[in-house]
Amino acid sequence: MSNLQKYKMLIGGEWVDAASGKHFESMNPYTGKAWALIPEGGAEDIDRAVKAAKAAFESGQWSKMTATQRGHLLRKLGDLIAENADALAATEVRDNGKLIAEMGLQLRYTPQWYYYFGGLADKIEGSVIPIDKPEHFNFTRHEPLGVIAAITPWNSPLMLAGWKLAPALAAGNTVVLKPSEFTSASSLEFGRLFEKAGFPPGVVNIVTGFGRDAGAALTSHPDVAKITFTGGPETGRLVYATGAKLLKKVSLELGGKSPNIVFDDCIIDNAVKGAISGIFAATGQTCIAGSRLLVQRSIHDEFVDKLVAFAKTAKMGDPMLPDTQVGPVTTLQQHDKILGYIDIAKGEGAECLLGGAKATRPECGSGWFVEPTIFAGVNNRMRIAQEEVFGPVLSIIPFEDEEEAIHLGNDVAFGLAAGIWTQSIRRALTVSEKIRAGSVWVNTYRAVSYMSPFGGYKDSGVGRENGQDAIREYMQTKSIWISYATDTPNPFVMR
Ligand code: NAP
Repeated sequence: MSNLQKYKMLIGGEWVDAASGKHFESMNPYTGKAWALIPEGGAEDIDRAVKAAKAAFESGQWSKMTATQRGHLLRKLGDLIAENADALAATEVRDNGKLIAEMGLQLRYTPQWYYYFGGLADKIEGSVIPIDKPEHFNFTRHEPLGVIAAITPWNSPLMLAGWKLAPALAAGNTVVLKPSEFTSASSLEFGRLFEKAGFPPGVVNIVTGFGRDAGAALTSHPDVAKITFTGGPETGRLVYATGAKLLKKVSLELGGKSPNIVFDDCIIDNAVKGAISGIFAATGQTCIAGSRLLVQRSIHDEFVDKLVAFAKTAKMGDPMLPDTQVGPVTTLQQHDKILGYIDIAKGEGAECLLGGAKATRPECGSGWFVEPTIFAGVNNRMRIAQEEVFGPVLSIIPFEDEEEAIHLGNDVAFGLAAGIWTQSIRRALTVSEKIRAGSVWVNTYRAVSYMSPFGGYKDSGVGRENGQDAIREYMQTKSIWISYATDTPNPFVMR
């Protein structure tokens, strides 16, 4: 008898096993051992979940609720997440190995998405158009789309689910959520809170399983109105192509290779911390990692010395300990991929100043750890400067002046985020205008909020999450015309 924790999926308000009866193991990256059994959902389960979501959208309690009532439910859900934040964070750490300090903070912050969009639910107003046709009254309504397919990655499962679910539900849609196969447990635990908050059955369904089976079945289901996806660029392209074929609405939050640009007029000690937070926080497993550190040549050596000295002090080990600073990598595949990129960088001639190997410190036990790694002398054409590593690997690229910094900053396929370190307001504004990225931070890094739009330029994505406009990504506009004319003109021509 297995002593692994066994989970069930949420479909149509019921907790069920996969139709196949199969489960797969969820691994703890710190111990390298399985700790839970997750249902291996497939096309049949997805079909049941989409049908339940469609039924809840078209009839039943949810479809009859006012926007104000939906807002109340979302705020109740926010309260329940807040009450359960520590337990949910611990589950996420068990699954993705990120620090309890980081996941705890994320889970305590996640309720804000439900409060904010819950508050917004009944403030989406249409307009009366001062229409040019005599004796016609014309107005608009913003209506929900229907069933939303939400697909999330493993790095921040419940926070990123909130970025999708909160606006989607506030707008009146229903949802089928497919979390990453590597971090499904927290989403399933989160499912219980919908019941407690009083959401009607079928409004939110959670189907676990593999991307190639459950994920593909969800994105290609004819009754899905919109796909909202966060993940890697390769999968993103596949999802976009599927959506295009079936003319679904699609929004994508994809990867990044963000420039963190350090000018010689910065406060060096702050910029060093900014560089560290850009790459070693979350073990580099964030889409907004500042993995390309552009440093002005005039301060390059002094800056790099301080950076390496600081990075050397990073405490690795058990992510559940509050003072650990660098935890393991979430999956064994990712661990091997990062080590592969380190070899590529060395082969390309980058100079390894720190790390550059698997971490074998005793405190890392048998977990999947990679040493915080810093490469200097990186040329922007090297693969290590262009491709997303998604691990604790920093590439330092020197530059001469503002013009070159902007050129190098933009000379990459991605455009998710950027950092600028300077004390000059002129430079801060000029460079932030010219950088082609969805988020630009000046003298700070990795700041995100439910209030501020987030998304990618170029290959980093399509659409925006967060902020007031995000709710419009889950709505469509209807134009309603009413004639109050007493006669009907020539019916053979346009009105
Ligand atoms: P991924 O491999 O692309 O997977 C993302 C999600 O897609 C998972 O749930 C995955 O399921 C599913 N999936 C895989 N194949 C699919 C298919 N054929 N059809 C439908 N769904 C499919 O990404 P990841 O490795 O989990 O996450 C890391 C990536 O996410 C990085 O590139 C990172 O930059 C990006 N990210 C972006 C943002 C942002 O906001 N821009 C935020 C966080 C992360 P399985 O896990 O079962 O394969």
